[in-house]
Amino acid sequence: MSLKEQLRAYARLLVGTGCALKPGQELQLTAPVEAAPFARMVAEEAWAAGAGDVTVEWDDQFTGRLRYLNAPMSAFESVPEWKRALLNGAAQRGAAFLFLEGDDPDGMAGIDPARFTAWTRASHRDCKSFYDGMDLGRNVWCIGGVATPAWAKKVFPGVGEEEAVEKLWAAILSTARADGADPAQDWADHSDTFQRRIKLLNDKAFDALRYTDPNGTDFTVGMNPGHIWAGGGAATVDGTWFFPNMPTEEIFTSPHRDRAEGIVHSALPLNYQGGMIEDFWIRFENGRAVDCGAKVGLDRLQSILDTDEGGRHLGEVALVPHASPIAQSGILFYSTLYDENAACHLALGKGFPECVTGGLEMDEKALAEHHINISATHVDFMIGTATLSITGIAADGSETPIFRNGNWVGEFA
Ligand code: ZN
Repeated sequence: MSLKEQLRAYARLLVGTGCALKPGQELQLTAPVEAAPFARMVAEEAWAAGAGDVTVEWDDQFTGRLRYLNAPMSAFESVPEWKRALLNGAAQRGAAFLFLEGDDPDGMAGIDPARFTAWTRASHRDCKSFYDGMDLGRNVWCIGGVATPAWAKKVFPGVGEEEAVEKLWAAILSTARADGADPAQDWADHSDTFQRRIKLLNDKAFDALRYTDPNGTDFTVGMNPGHIWAGGGAATVDGTWFFPNMPTEEIFTSPHRDRAEGIVHSALPLNYQGGMIEDFWIRFENGRAVDCGAKVGLDRLQSILDTDEGGRHLGEVALVPHASPIAQSGILFYSTLYDENAACHLALGKGFPECVTGGLEMDEKALAEHHINISATHVDFMIGTATLSITGIAADGSETPIFRNGNWVGEFA
């Protein structure tokens, strides 16, 4: 297949499998201006699939950056009326949301992190229908990568721009399993392979997981009563199966908000809101991040923790084998969508309602009572290495190895 044919297949995959778009359903598409040719292909595929409407919100990081640099702080403390109407309205009408991501990882360097924090908080308050629609399983949504020149040059330094973009597209297509003869079937098979491990983990219903690694990680995280492991896709409340992330390699749940003890060390640099956090650690007591350090970007790390009280607690525990294709590619994408599928990770901030029994029917208060973390933020950080061990601890104290040397072992292998 030519690159153009592969891109067409990828566009069809994002619409048909990622969003599971139904005839008559609206598609709300967000796309970088640099990726306009691909976004137009996505729109064509959406109409071909019978979309009720297709709306594109073009995203330009350059002018977005200018706004962050020049607008008064008040511009980030509330969301403009038009944007609220766009996003909340689409959510209320049952739209599918497709986010194409291709930002320059360094494109927001030097901007006061307090501005991002204010914007995150305002967005969640003012676009509540939009976020609730996705968080509570009412709307389907999918995030997929698109190659842009700035991102490609960051991932593949030392080659010309055109070659870098081609290499990044190839990496996007192969890690998203979009380069085979029948990507939709490949995704059905990929999804099935998740289900066996998810069932095993759910049947075990561990009380806690213990992480140890020669890099200094020595950490135990408590599981919720009634916690649910998920991955390989998600279902809406009305039973539509969709894929929030393409690629996806992780099996995840939300831990007990107040049960994390010990220290975790990062395994990969974290790109957070346009800047890097590198070589960092976080220490937890009673589920709360009480201390942290970083060789690069300590102020950014602290700004995550300071988003709100929930920013200091964990919302996600995710298992990704070191043998995963993204890890094996050896490519650092500087993008959470890819890098989080390269390594076991944790997330600071918001937990997932679908990860506790009955959670999709609960409001925030009920979720909090079930020890699911509530926050305006959710930031993944990678802790999985080739030497990580994870052990499941049952309520009776018995131990089951889950990961050794970075990969599934025993009955989980
Ligand atoms: Zn994750």
